Amino acid sequence: MDNCIYCKISEKREDADIVYQDETFCAFLHPTPINHGHIILTTSEHCTSLTLLDDETYSKLQCLARKIAVATLKTKDYDGFNIQYNHGECAGQDALHAALHIIPRVGTDGFHLNWRMQEAADEDQRKSLIDFIKNKLS
Ligand SMILES: [Zn+2]
Repeated sequence: MDNCIYCKISEKREDADIVYQDETFCAFLHPTPINHGHIILTTSEHCTSLTLLDDETYSKLQCLARKIAVATLKTKDYDGFNIQYNHGECAGQDALHAALHIIPRVGTDGFHLNWRMQEAADEDQRKSLIDFIKNKLS
């Protein structure tokens, strides 16, 4: 896609610090990272959502994300990592090209996911949600 920043990077029409690339995927250092090792892993072809990928491509993407994350641990600069997918603007998706964020972590990096815990929904709401999801998965 002509104006998509991730397409531009994977097609080398935009400069980026690419850490991995093959014909299906491209991984590069985030230009405005959460921390030093923040990597974006995306598809080489334009795809707005990971939900649109076929199972085989999605599985390969997840395996590659794990390999990249493990590689960051081997630098000895990091003690852990987060792998995050932001689907939709409300979830923080900032480009309309699906991407996994691989965020190597160290205890002093100052990054917080800021998850706020709430009371669980009431039993009827939980049961309704469970039934709905089970129905969609069957
Ligand atoms: Zn794109």
